[in-house]
Amino acid sequence: MGFKIELSKSEEERAMRLHREAIVVDTHCDTLMQLIPRIGAMRREMPRKLGERSERGHIDLPRLIEGGVDCQTFAMYTGLAPNYPLALKTALQMVDAFYRSVEENKDKFVQVRTYEEIIKAKEEGKVAGLLSMEGAEPLMGDLGLLRVFYKLGLRMLSFTWNWRTEFADGLAASRTGGKLTPKGIEAMEEMRRLGIVLDVSHITDACFWDIVENTKVPFIASHSNCRALCDVPRNLTDDMLRALADRGGVTGMNYAPFFILPREKLRAGQKATVEDLVDHIDHIVEVVGPDHVGLGSDFDGIGQPPVGLEDVSKVPNITRVLVKRGYSDEDIKKILGGNFLRVFKQVLK
Ligand SMILES: [Zn+2]
Repeated sequence: MGFKIELSKSEEERAMRLHREAIVVDTHCDTLMQLIPRIGAMRREMPRKLGERSERGHIDLPRLIEGGVDCQTFAMYTGLAPNYPLALKTALQMVDAFYRSVEENKDKFVQVRTYEEIIKAKEEGKVAGLLSMEGAEPLMGDLGLLRVFYKLGLRMLSFTWNWRTEFADGLAASRTGGKLTPKGIEAMEEMRRLGIVLDVSHITDACFWDIVENTKVPFIASHSNCRALCDVPRNLTDDMLRALADRGGVTGMNYAPFFILPREKLRAGQKATVEDLVDHIDHIVEVVGPDHVGLGSDFDGIGQPPVGLEDVSKVPNITRVLVKRGYSDEDIKKILGGNFLRVFKQVLK
């Protein structure tokens, strides 16, 4: 049986119009991992091409277009610490795979670095691709490498995946309670100067609060949900949501079931659905209003996505649920991408 969100004919038309008009932004996917040659045990299958519709994974260009996603962030995720030279090699292979994808699909895919380039891509009917880095292992603590990656198009960076880096502690290092390193503080300032968005998904709570204390510009959580609804360290507490909002930031909703539903429910056999994901959006809107939530799928980095969000072509179901729950046109467009665009306009250069 197919999953269906019950809408009236006029609601369905409204949902599709809003989805088309909105600039839909997704701030995190791990698709680049599937486009590069095999690295150690990281991936077992042959690389696929972004331009070709695949039965594998969750994101490719045909499905991005079908799902009406206008701006997709592609993360360089290496996760290989402490083998840092290999992390750098992997990141550069991912940049190459991204560039080749752009070259092979010039008519429908374009690299973007600024807010203006995202708007232009939408006007030209092309999918905008933004490069990010999840975990700073490839930088090896070197701000010179940060500047080189900026020139390659890096516009979003999380200091950590789950490990400790030269800049900060990832969640696996939580017990020491450490703040950012002096190098991390320096990197924040260099990112502000260059115009790279700081992403706090995967960082420890202690480092999160240190960033709140020290940031001069809005920061984001590219793929983190609410701890109030699903109590895992990868999600944000209500106090964190308030601090993020207070600094003008946004958090992107992660589609991984284990960040959507509590473990007990999943263990009891309950399947997460797109409705359960929108519960997290409802909660954030309740706590901090509609200006601080967006989409950060984590597609191609998660196992089985929720029912109704099986791959990126199903993203319009989120808009359908938002319509069904009575959100205004304005708020729906903010949630689908307007909020992240506000941060991009302020920070990216
Ligand atoms: Zn992640």
